Amino acid sequence: MMMIKPNYKKAEILARKFLKDSKVKGFPLDLDFFRKVYNKTHNTRLRIKSFSWYMKKYNLSYSGMIEFINSEDGCCFYSKEEEKAIIIYNDFLNNAGRIRWTIAHEFGHLILGHINNNRAIITRNKLSEKEYNAYELEANTFARELLAPMSLVYYIYDCLGDKISIDSIFGISHEAAQNILKRMLEWSKTHDYSKDTCLYVQFSKFIHSKYCSSCNHFFLSYNKQEKYCKFCGNEFEFKYKEDVNTMKYKDYDISKNKQVLRCLTCDNEDIDFNNDKYAFCHICGSPVINKCLNKNEKTQCGKSLPANARFCPYCGSETLFYEKGLLKAWNKKQEETPTFSFDSEVPPEEEIPF
Ligand SMILES: [Zn+2]
Ligand SMILES: [Zn+2]
Ligand SMILES: [Zn+2]
Ligand SMILES: [Zn+2]
Repeated sequence: MMMIKPNYKKAEILARKFLKDSKVKGFPLDLDFFRKVYNKTHNTRLRIKSFSWYMKKYNLSYSGMIEFINSEDGCCFYSKEEEKAIIIYNDFLNNAGRIRWTIAHEFGHLILGHINNNRAIITRNKLSEKEYNAYELEANTFARELLAPMSLVYYIYDCLGDKISIDSIFGISHEAAQNILKRMLEWSKTHDYSKDTCLYVQFSKFIHSKYCSSCNHFFLSYNKQEKYCKFCGNEFEFKYKEDVNTMKYKDYDISKNKQVLRCLTCDNEDIDFNNDKYAFCHICGSPVINKCLNKNEKTQCGKSLPANARFCPYCGSETLFYEKGLLKAWNKKQEETPTFSFDSEVPPEEEIPF
């Protein structure tokens, strides 16, 4: 008996399982890497080839090719007997996102077991219309959850709002991105994504990546209230880079009352760390607690901030240390010993939705 109703849940679960098995940390996915993971974990040997390659090998014209596979996008051949599969994609299309979608979609047909017969190919000719449609919907669900998992789209959107471009973050077409965003917003009304933890840990760095294009710094920020670069006040955008080695501004240790351990101006370390009223160095009068200078009646920020913040990450205003000249502008050299790492802030425990 052939299944006729599409099983979306199964398609989503298998896509996520594949992401987990691959141990990737970020997007856009490298689809050739996926091919390798597939080949390592399955007996079937999968190859991914272009129309051009296939046309040359079998001496086919472009229209002959499309007629042969009955698709402008691509197809998947599978031979159970020979333990071989091949995904063919149309490399004549000038749309990398669409090509990636096709490959992921055909990959879905393979993993979902749609092509179980020898040399089978998913076309309208060999299946009933209903079966064909159900398989297509499942393969698209698989592709969507593999290339741009809904919960990750939600997390990034939740932090940065509609400024983000889903298409470039996940390497999908603009059209697919619009559909995913629409669907995510619709679902998030009833679906609690914050409890959707299955990919959260694996992609935690990816989700919390932020980038300042003005001073060229990558950040890991676990606080979605943080919208501005603390070094130059520019608004964050989304950008992910695995193993970022970027120069970080010197950070200063602070006491439980947020006082710097040594006055940044005169190096006095005789600060009353137990008294949160001790906010100014008694030797030179410099502030020892950094805070946001935004006293706007409405926004009322004024938050305590890391000692190396020139600007408030929450509202973009100047900080006390910057205004008083304790910290120089980000592009003026003052750093003694730059360290190499991400911002090392650890997520507050209650923010990890386990
Ligand atoms: Zn298909
Ligand atoms: Zn910046
Ligand atoms: Zn001082
Ligand atoms: Zn502020």
